[in-house]
Amino acid sequence: MIGRFAPSPTGLLHLGNARTALLAWLHARAAGGQFLVRLEDLDAERCKAQYADAQLEDLEYLGLTWDGPVVRQSERLEHYRAALTQLEAKGRVYPCTCSRADIARAAAAPHPGEEGPRYPGTCRTPAGRVAGRPQTRRFLVQEGEWAFVDEVRGPTRQDVFTAVGDFVVARADGLPSYQLAVVVDDAAQGVTHVVRGDDLLDSTPRQLQLFEALALPAPAYAHVPLVLDEDGKRLAKRHGALTVAHFRERGVAAEKLLGVLAQWSGLGDGAPVRAQALVARFSWATVSRTPPRLALSALEALR
Ligand code: GLU
Repeated sequence: MIGRFAPSPTGLLHLGNARTALLAWLHARAAGGQFLVRLEDLDAERCKAQYADAQLEDLEYLGLTWDGPVVRQSERLEHYRAALTQLEAKGRVYPCTCSRADIARAAAAPHPGEEGPRYPGTCRTPAGRVAGRPQTRRFLVQEGEWAFVDEVRGPTRQDVFTAVGDFVVARADGLPSYQLAVVVDDAAQGVTHVVRGDDLLDSTPRQLQLFEALALPAPAYAHVPLVLDEDGKRLAKRHGALTVAHFRERGVAAEKLLGVLAQWSGLGDGAPVRAQALVARFSWATVSRTPPRLALSALEALR
């Protein structure tokens, strides 16, 4: 059993990220497994070393110990290239010259998700490509429903072809997309269980298709609900005062923060607690499935 937490160092971890990390850690430790940390730092423009350092300090502060060295995606480019070459050899990727505007224009109805409209497949045939334009690489998805059983969400299915269409696996500059890099790394690190925020639930069928195309074993998944703020909106990087670093730097005992995270997860009553003490309490049957809603008053009391 190998679990992992894979933050992108594009900002400080907020309490919602910390809760996801805690659950991933508890899942691994309760099973007597390993817990790995991977920094998903491929986007050089948005990722900053100072955020990566702070994120690791946050995990240490919370007592979420990890096994082996921290893996950085920016140091693994050759592995993503090799996977891309393999997909190319199997005829599963093709060059695409469509701009975002082209895709938006071609789409009959805008996709309700955050990722924009479904790709209509313009460049599946060479006739669709425009000479002289930068070329991304798209994965030729299989049609039909892809199903998996999520530990938290239960049976989940999606037809990637109709919902998303062929998706980008490499940018025009050769940098792999999140979808490709995460699959290559989860397989290379032997990850057996992925615990992550349910904003990524939609990505899983795409990743399962990539695992299959690359003949790699896919992990099991648990997508946990994201923490909501007092207005019912997902916690985001705009909540500066709700970062782990905010509390850590003010000398708040980690046990107090863990008490709140545990309570959000149905694993405690809010009393201060050490991460290690939560291991024996953890089971997916106990973890509440509704998105926790934070109460600022409870957090104020920690300071
Ligand atoms: N790096 C991704 C994020 O921070 C998470 C990737 C994953 O857990 O699969 O949103």
